[in-house]
Amino acid sequence: MEQPDLLTQFDQAAELIAASRWPLLICHVAPDGDAIGSLLGLTWILRALGKNVTPASQDGVPKNLRFLPGSQTVVSQAAGQADLVIAIDSSDLERLGTVYDQALLNNVPLLNIDHHITNLMFGSLNVVAPTATSAAEVVYDLAQSQGWPIPPEAAQSLLTGLVTDTRGFRTSNVSARTLEIAQRLMEAGGSLHAVTEGVLEQRSFDTVCLWGHALAAARLQDGIAWTAIPLTMRVPCNGVEQSDSGLANFLVAADEVEVAVVLVERKEGPIDVGFRSAGRVDVAQLALGLGGGGHPRAAGCTLNMSLPEAKALVLRATREALAALPSQP
Ligand code: AMP
Ligand code: MN
Ligand code: MN
Repeated sequence: MEQPDLLTQFDQAAELIAASRWPLLICHVAPDGDAIGSLLGLTWILRALGKNVTPASQDGVPKNLRFLPGSQTVVSQAAGQADLVIAIDSSDLERLGTVYDQALLNNVPLLNIDHHITNLMFGSLNVVAPTATSAAEVVYDLAQSQGWPIPPEAAQSLLTGLVTDTRGFRTSNVSARTLEIAQRLMEAGGSLHAVTEGVLEQRSFDTVCLWGHALAAARLQDGIAWTAIPLTMRVPCNGVEQSDSGLANFLVAADEVEVAVVLVERKEGPIDVGFRSAGRVDVAQLALGLGGGGHPRAAGCTLNMSLPEAKALVLRATREALAALPSQP
């Protein structure tokens, strides 16, 4: 069960929610299954409590998550009034993107619900549980602690967050309790099959094409596997956007790899960096040092520089993190 201080935070969060009529819920940019799943899960729970909820995501809802009920109600720009902002699955304020309009929302309480160990505690109330597998799990625990009903639409959404952030119950933080929560969510109306079939391994052929080019360009040196995806690499693949974290997961699974790094050039300029660790290097700290964040085995950052500069910086930092490890017996 949760630690006592987390239970206190749940009670405080429930007080903020009780006082709100127009909560605005925001997930992180380039949303994944947990971002959208926890966003919509909490949306349905709060709607059942009679709240006028606006779910928001700067980058909308990815195609493979549009089967989730309520995904068509997600806005990409906040309009109208809000008397409470709830940030979900985001370790810092910047990652909420342009939906969080500082000027407009400065005097509105900000509830930060997350599970990243690198969370910067940017909320007026922070409910951060680094041992939780997903933000969806934190939302589930919050609802349980308050006796809030979980409608079937919320169950499907939260199950999606739980399953995607654990890559189908395969990450090292999965416990018997994770499976118990999944069971409860299935009993409440969530379909496991809808997530495993529709989301986990599903990708377009254009993405498969891009993987082909990115894997052909991959290099391995001293336990670090890396590849870079410049804009030009997308051209023969119908310009597909690289948004699939499966590539970094695939690279880190190679026997010789301690850390996998995937650098992606974005149209707007910045470089997105994804890190995966086989277990010895804490990539959450590595990414935090570069202005990003994440989890010990999966993390990322965004760098405002050219791709060659980003590659040099990231590889240097990764080599240093590896060199700082105690030598293996
Ligand atoms: P990804 O490689 O995109 O699947 O991300 C792995 C983990 O790192 C997720 O928990 C993300 O929330 C986190 N992460 C990725 N990119 C960033 C970033 N630019 N800033 C902070 N955290 C990030
Ligand atoms: Mn996420
Ligand atoms: Mn998450």
